[in-house]
Amino acid sequence: QYKGEIVAVGTELLLGQIANTNAQWLSQQMALYGINVYNHTVVGDNLERVEEAFKMAQKRSDIIIVTGGLGPTDDDLTREAFEQISGMEMIEDKTSMEKIELFFRNHNVKMTPNNRKQARVFKGSTVLKNSVGMAPGMRVEFAEKTWFFLPGVPREMKQITKEEIIPYLHQLTDKEQIIKSLVLKFIGIGESSLEHELKDLIQAQSNPTIAPLAQEDGVVIRLTAKEKSEEKLDELLYHTKMQILARVGEFYFGEDNDVIEQVIVELLKKQNKRIAAAESLTGGLFTEKIVSVNGASFVCPGGIVCYDAAIKQEVLGVSEETIQNKGTVSEECAHEMSENVRKLLRSDIGISFTGIAGPTPTEGKPVGKVYISISDVNGYQKVEEFLFTGSRSSIRKRASLKGLEIIYN
Ligand code: ATP
Ligand code: MG
Repeated sequence: QYKGEIVAVGTELLLGQIANTNAQWLSQQMALYGINVYNHTVVGDNLERVEEAFKMAQKRSDIIIVTGGLGPTDDDLTREAFEQISGMEMIEDKTSMEKIELFFRNHNVKMTPNNRKQARVFKGSTVLKNSVGMAPGMRVEFAEKTWFFLPGVPREMKQITKEEIIPYLHQLTDKEQIIKSLVLKFIGIGESSLEHELKDLIQAQSNPTIAPLAQEDGVVIRLTAKEKSEEKLDELLYHTKMQILARVGEFYFGEDNDVIEQVIVELLKKQNKRIAAAESLTGGLFTEKIVSVNGASFVCPGGIVCYDAAIKQEVLGVSEETIQNKGTVSEECAHEMSENVRKLLRSDIGISFTGIAGPTPTEGKPVGKVYISISDVNGYQKVEEFLFTGSRSSIRKRASLKGLEIIYN
């Protein structure tokens, strides 16, 4: 078993100015390939302390990924520190240098000498191509340990990892076993309820591992299995998936790259139904999700953003009585909005969103109070009341997501 370590270099991480998302992402990737990450190290832009961190990593870990400090400025010290601890020589990588020179020529900018630094690599290292930035990454084998050096910029770090590191790790662990993961996606159930339902399975897990994760648009369970053959691997994943769906199948909507809006659009298409939304606090977020799906035009004729009370009345035809007596954030208003948008846009299903996104309460109603109503052409109708917490932006996002959830269920 390999021991992994991630070393993030940068004073801004220590100051709390940015979060160490590189380590988070890299750890997830390492886990997929069966490498246990035992340590996350964060160290500032200080030569002595970076050296110290590197020495420690060399001693206790087998695979070390370093991010940051490869840039051209004086505070980028990753190369210098590793040079010190390893005694390895640095040389200029011709391909990288040409690329840097070309960049400056193409942009008509004079290249300052410190930019040459970005093309410096350890002699004998494997240069990892950076297809989205300047400084290349490196793989260095030093005293039986494998080091990867990556730029700090998350986009570059991810790109190099996907293109260069993952194939390497794959090969490394492949010798013994194949690893495969499967992501099951759920909507309408929280992470903790999901965990509760699957408690014994999660506790008894070993192969595959079962990891519930909350995401912005729902909850996922990541299954990761290791086996000797592809066939056994698929069998194992399928078996566990069925065990899980037997308990929480009603909330399941897809796997891996499936997204809820796509599943909904396909469902509506199959049923030959059209949907239209009247959106107040969500300002079009719901319709945006639907329209983002390729083929949405079959199921969505459009939507109405009706933010102001007068627009709800004049454009959408919500009755004056409702607005005067019940207010725009009310069950009655939501109901009329969904009925009217359905009729106006000649759809089978109408959905509406009205509520208080905050930060200040209005109409004497608290921030986060939201009504979502659906009505369909066969007379089915339902209004649900919610109290969401969080910022204005998260209340609006959660309301539109809840709309998708209601439609799906
Ligand atoms: P550059 O060539 O751009 O200078 P670099 O390898 O020197 O790259 P840094 O200067 O350390 O990398 O970081 C560049 C930027 O990348 C930082 O300003 C920060 O926004 C982001 N970054 C660096 N490290 C991390 C990290 N661990 N997690 C998330 N973002 C990071
Ligand atoms: Mg830098």
